[in-house]
Amino acid sequence: MNTLIQSRLAERDKAVNWHPYTQMKTAGNPVPIVKGKGVYLYDNEGKKYIDAVSSWWVTLHGHAHPYIAERVSQQLNTLEQVIFAGFTHEPAVQLSENLLKLLPGNQEKVFYSDNGSTAVEAALKMCIQYAYNQGKEKTKILAFKEAYHGDTFGAMSVSGRSVWTKPFGSMLFEVIFIDTPTAENLEHLKIQIKALAGETACFIYEPLVQGAAGMLMYEAEHLDELMKFCRNEEILMIQDEVFTGFGRTGKLFAADHLTEIPDIMCFSKGLTGGTMPMGITTCSNRIFNAFLSDDKYKTLFHGHSFTANPLACTAALASMELLLKEETLAAIDRISRQHSDFTGILASHPNVENVRQTGTILAFEYKTDQNTSYFNETGKILYDEFLQRGIIMRPLGNIMYLVPPYCITPEELDFIYRNILEVLELFREPTCFPTDEAARE
Ligand SMILES: *Cc1c(COP(=O)(O)O)cnc(C)c1O
Repeated sequence: MNTLIQSRLAERDKAVNWHPYTQMKTAGNPVPIVKGKGVYLYDNEGKKYIDAVSSWWVTLHGHAHPYIAERVSQQLNTLEQVIFAGFTHEPAVQLSENLLKLLPGNQEKVFYSDNGSTAVEAALKMCIQYAYNQGKEKTKILAFKEAYHGDTFGAMSVSGRSVWTKPFGSMLFEVIFIDTPTAENLEHLKIQIKALAGETACFIYEPLVQGAAGMLMYEAEHLDELMKFCRNEEILMIQDEVFTGFGRTGKLFAADHLTEIPDIMCFSKGLTGGTMPMGITTCSNRIFNAFLSDDKYKTLFHGHSFTANPLACTAALASMELLLKEETLAAIDRISRQHSDFTGILASHPNVENVRQTGTILAFEYKTDQNTSYFNETGKILYDEFLQRGIIMRPLGNIMYLVPPYCITPEELDFIYRNILEVLELFREPTCFPTDEAARE
């Protein structure tokens, strides 16, 4: 294929498509991808790119995994979809059984939806209605200042207020925002929580790693302490593992780093190995039982057309089978160790700060004169440079991070590390970046 076809496809795309998180006026041409295999994506000129961000943090075992494809294909020829009210099917029952076995013991029911945001919406509704069904009004929600829980209105409301949420500010419901816990601020946080505990329905949090905020990390022991306090204050806990689930933090779930257990958990992203969209909200029987009643009004009135879609359930079953294989768990360990060695090298680099790592997630900041923010122009320049080199990195402003699929080999990971060091050399002086002003023109 030639460049003409490539630019034509980009033009056709621009005529009809509106891309996510993209300023369509200034965006460059999208890269047409025709094929995925393992850790690589191929464009229509045959150039290959290492997917160092797992295609927005979803791909676990590599692209077009033959085993997942085979299982989904069989399912597609057997049962592609059935209404999940009044009906059920083997993939949904099996997936719920398999997933619950891996979660904290109190998680006993599975509610299916379509993506991470809807998993969060369902969780919030469970908590608010849990109180309502018992004749109580508890409508306040507790969340972290820099949280990200999705883009639908409820999920946006419990996410930190930012440029992303600004146009909708007056329409988002009230949330009590607190700092992430540290040894120093814990006592202060407890005082803040205590003051409104009687009206607070739930506390929602991304455990250990706040992804969209820029891979901010905090300690399990401090979260444990906060969770324990919430439990004593009878505040329900929603653990949003949409990003951290399925091995990302080095263990199967962030829950495996904690001793305290949440009431509700949310999953998506890696759930199907990145093959198909699906969301899951799990809960304890304590929550579930509060909806059991002869009174129809106590029903959880929530559902989506594609609830528990058999194809997505099958992809999830196949992906979880691959995830639990010894070689995959060993690969997760190996990536974590390789990252850890590389953090040592990065940390001593003069242009790098705040190097951090949790399991397979590695992040650091490129030192610039500009503020650390999503709109820091450094990100765009770095993105283009890495793309040229055949690596898909998607810096959040000047924050660079790696979230590779688990099938990545040591050599491929080294290739990325080597390129990071080269790019850091290339842009050694922060002044070689245009200023905010210049870049905007
Ligand atoms: C991505 C993400 C979501 C939203 O999931 P979508 O599938 O994009 O709607 C929710 N919570 C966390 C922690 C996420 O990283």
